[in-house]
Amino acid sequence: MPIGPPQRKPAGGESSTLRADPKCSILTAAVASDSTQAVHLDSTAFINGSRKSLFGLDAGLLAEVMKEMGQPAWRARQLADALYRQWIEELPLVSTLPLNLRDRLADEGWQVGRPKIAQVFRSADGTERYLVQGQGATDTVEAVWMPEGDDGEAGDGSEDENRPWRRATICVSSQVGCAVNCRFCLTAKLGLQRNLSAGEIAGQVIAVLARHAVEVGRDRLNLVFMGMGEPFLNYDNFMAAVRLLVNEAGLSPRRMTVSTSGIVPGIERFAQEPPEVRPKLAISLNAPNNAVRSDVMPINRKWPIEAVVDAVRGVKLRPRERITFEYVLLGGVTDRPEHAAEVARLVRRSGLPAKVNLIAWNPGPGIGYATPEPGTVEAFRQALIAAGVPAYLRKPRGRDIYAACGQLKRTVEG
Ligand code: SF4
Repeated sequence: MPIGPPQRKPAGGESSTLRADPKCSILTAAVASDSTQAVHLDSTAFINGSRKSLFGLDAGLLAEVMKEMGQPAWRARQLADALYRQWIEELPLVSTLPLNLRDRLADEGWQVGRPKIAQVFRSADGTERYLVQGQGATDTVEAVWMPEGDDGEAGDGSEDENRPWRRATICVSSQVGCAVNCRFCLTAKLGLQRNLSAGEIAGQVIAVLARHAVEVGRDRLNLVFMGMGEPFLNYDNFMAAVRLLVNEAGLSPRRMTVSTSGIVPGIERFAQEPPEVRPKLAISLNAPNNAVRSDVMPINRKWPIEAVVDAVRGVKLRPRERITFEYVLLGGVTDRPEHAAEVARLVRRSGLPAKVNLIAWNPGPGIGYATPEPGTVEAFRQALIAAGVPAYLRKPRGRDIYAACGQLKRTVEG
């Protein structure tokens, strides 16, 4: 489906109509000067003017803040609950802390500092795309809320047929821009502007959870790190965000998926993560062989398919867990029957428990690929299935939300 011209951000407030295709993976942002600066506690805390952000600090770091104030460690637990379980946005509203402690924190320059949803674009089907402003940042990134998901989670063993009426997928970003330069991706055109901090990554999730009053642990929520950027090129902050979301916010890592373009050192680090805080892994494959992949994803020249698959073999999977291969179908380039046969061989030869998520490419300005016909996409999917490879088609949400690393991304600010 064609996409309209880039949208300028209105002066403020919500948009009640869909202004641009909300795509999970899309992102955005005009980067002006970045005045953020790390504080001493760790790289996730920022100074915004004179204010330091508590959001982004885990329970251990919050304990350090409390200790410096002569407070017992359990005050840190109260603070962590307020930030990550109650989603309180303003320090004066943290009623579990005594008033004089809240005042002292404020006097010493602390604020909650959670990233804020600056603008909302809403689709008729309930999909929402957000511009989220980070901690002390003047730029924004996008996150997407997809009620009822997009079927990308199908076949991963996490389906819950008893609660089909309460499921959603949130897609978040890990960087402003991206350095990977996939040829089919609009974000690539921005280049890498900066890494997001752990608080800025986790904050996108909490802001969206709060907006929709999600009941963590009850509602079926999938989280995909497939927005703007390559998470494994911002590895430490990405994983710190995952730990915040798992350990402090109570989200399940089994319902999280991170997509990588195939950054082998990142996959090798990921393989060392303990399963209790490790998301599932998706590889943005997008081509049937190295020759085509190096054309559409130049990163393949550094880490070809075999090296990526080798690294993935090092990830110890949980029972029933599968690796996902994301595959953007580019008309005439990666969508032919012989390509489907190659992909099936590649997946089978990998020996990995795997599935393939197919994504019909969506055109974007200045990118010279074609969208395959629906019949071609379905034929590709059936060819994979016939060859014994589970294959799913991400259904469009809003006006084409296909969510995956390897998707179009869209600049919405001029
Ligand atoms: S598809 Fe993902 S990894 Fe590739 S350039 Fe776009 S954001 Fe970066």
